[in-house]
Amino acid sequence: MGNGEGIYLHEYMPRSELVVERASIEEPKFPVVDFHTHLGSLTEGDESEVKERLACHVERLRALGVEHVVNQERRWGSELADILKKLAPWTDFFTTFGGVDVAQLDEPDFPDMVEDSMKRGADLGMRGVKIWKNVSLEMKDKNGRHIPIDDPRLTPIWDTAAELNLPVLMHIADPVAFFRPVDRFSERFEELQRHPDWSFCSPELFEFEELMEQQARLLEKNPDTVFIIAHMGSYAENLGFVGECLDRYPNMYVDMAARLAELGRQPYTARRFFEKHQDRILFATDCFPAWLEHRKYYEFLETWNEYFDYSSSGSQGQGRWKIYGIGLDDNILEKVYNRNARKLFQA
Ligand SMILES: [Zn+2]
Repeated sequence: MGNGEGIYLHEYMPRSELVVERASIEEPKFPVVDFHTHLGSLTEGDESEVKERLACHVERLRALGVEHVVNQERRWGSELADILKKLAPWTDFFTTFGGVDVAQLDEPDFPDMVEDSMKRGADLGMRGVKIWKNVSLEMKDKNGRHIPIDDPRLTPIWDTAAELNLPVLMHIADPVAFFRPVDRFSERFEELQRHPDWSFCSPELFEFEELMEQQARLLEKNPDTVFIIAHMGSYAENLGFVGECLDRYPNMYVDMAARLAELGRQPYTARRFFEKHQDRILFATDCFPAWLEHRKYYEFLETWNEYFDYSSSGSQGQGRWKIYGIGLDDNILEKVYNRNARKLFQA
């Protein structure tokens, strides 16, 4: 290819020529609780097979300085019971959340069904409730309408969670760019080209701003329920907004899962945010067994490294930018790495 000849955007892979010091991080400064992970298919199959796979997974995580992970399951009933049984030998390492059958929303006995299902889950060892974005972005009620996340019909879930002392981890929205047109102005254009189904830009669906209003009302109307709003409170692009919500709603926590690219491109704002809200942020990666990216998170939280990839596969996966470390102080690191998570389970 000569000078001046065009190339396609996906072919463009600039190599940084920047020369700066870069601290390397093998292990975190403090033991880590990863509050948002998925075991995926690790728990499928017969018990001895699962046991072997889990042992191997635990070993890999321990080598990364992880001492505990929360497995964000969204199954319920016998499927959840099966998973809890398989994980029983590792309760010191795995905490498991479980789901609720929200599709039964319009059934008259939905409140009883919810209470019963959550109580049974809790009896078997479920330690929290996971609500996924399919509720806010996919499901419809019997009238064919999408379900606002603050819909009063969902209240039995929040009430039962409060009663059973189960925190609720909610994935409500996605990156803001997924709600905007997929055009040349989209900062996630290439990602959406690869995953067209991740676009939620449709007049049929709630707009991002509507979801944020629903989220605020949910937190406000259910003060006795502890909500961990995943992915930096749904709005890592606007930490000012998330900070205001944390100030307003003491029942709100955030996890930082899968938002390294967002946090690391705003190091000054992110550092101030972590300093101010140090008691309400949970370390989390959203990692699957085949994709453990913990060291990238440690590098962001602990070092002052500049302009590095947010993923071990480069910086083209989400947006075309690199990130910067925020060099947090030890006392904040320790809270984010494990103390905030531990406190949630002692409450
Ligand atoms: Zn997740």
